[in-house]
Amino acid sequence: MPRPTGQSFSRRTVLAAGLAAVPLAVAAPAFAKGNFPSPGPVIPRDAILTYDDMIAALRKIEHSSQGSVTVTTLRELGITPGVSEAGRDLYVATVGTGPKHVWLQGRIHGNEPYGVDSLLAILKSVSSSGSPAYSRIREELTLHIIPMYNPDGSELYIRHTILQDGTERRIDLNRDWALDAFAAKESQSWYAYWAQVKPAFGLDIHHQGLKTDESGDAITMSLGISLSPSGPTLPFIKDGLFDIQTRQMQGLVYNELKGYGYIAMDRYSVSGELELDIHGGVSSATMLGLNWNNLNPTGHSHPMVFFETYGGPIGQKSRGKAIKQNVLGTAELLDGLASGDVWNTDPMVWHNMPRVDYTGYITDDGVVPGWPMYPPVG
Ligand SMILES: [Zn+2]
Repeated sequence: MPRPTGQSFSRRTVLAAGLAAVPLAVAAPAFAKGNFPSPGPVIPRDAILTYDDMIAALRKIEHSSQGSVTVTTLRELGITPGVSEAGRDLYVATVGTGPKHVWLQGRIHGNEPYGVDSLLAILKSVSSSGSPAYSRIREELTLHIIPMYNPDGSELYIRHTILQDGTERRIDLNRDWALDAFAAKESQSWYAYWAQVKPAFGLDIHHQGLKTDESGDAITMSLGISLSPSGPTLPFIKDGLFDIQTRQMQGLVYNELKGYGYIAMDRYSVSGELELDIHGGVSSATMLGLNWNNLNPTGHSHPMVFFETYGGPIGQKSRGKAIKQNVLGTAELLDGLASGDVWNTDPMVWHNMPRVDYTGYITDDGVVPGWPMYPPVG
């Protein structure tokens, strides 16, 4: 693992300066902890970026990047099928020249919109900021930014994509990376690209409904690992390496963001009391080193984590904050990966984060009771 460079600047200050150039990252006044305005009954669809909006934004950033950003489609890269079920091109932007490739994806669930805004903001900052932190990100990392993994579901504002084989079966693309799956063209295409890129790290941005803690305050962001640390699967991958590294990645995000007054974080949970251990999700498959269609014969694998931001039917003010916390979390994670500082994070931070009292795990075969399955490894 790379050692930190020992450069003595305040990471937060430097990154915040870089983000100031991004119009999406609105400056928020100091709010009480987790104070998001109440969700209204109507989803503000007008303000949600469409597929065409995303393409236009990517092209604009590419144009103004003076060559540092490349926007391409999977079809242009020769990947088959390379398009969505409905035939939409799948867009990826790359920036940076570093040896470590990072996979950043948003909106795999079409009705969870703000991963698009968040990743466009990150792309713009990384491509244009002259700060030392962003320069280092460009030098150490190559980012593969997928703002809209699921364009069909995004245009329909539904979670799934819809198969166009006559069945109109709805496919959850985040359950479709498994040997017996890959029903959708999106999964086949993005997986083929992933197997070519062989990333070193990954991040996936989602939304969840309004979550509150015991005192009723909003949890604005949940940090997730789709194969639970100390759970049935992760401790056995690479002798527990990803169990430690995923906790370090999320521990860094937690440490860096916990000082922001409007951000209240916890650990992601399902149905209130279960931790995830689903194998067919993208982030799980990348850690398992899935080899589908013999596209990954060496079994390449890497740690990958996810954010669940409070989203959905919210007004403009809370939307700006939801996006901003994603952007900050992503920027801090990238800075930590570029500097190597993330590997100085105590993995036990994960276990001291706010969380519900878990009773077990949700797995592909149903609920496995008992928690934790194994003691945490520090
Ligand atoms: Zn989701």
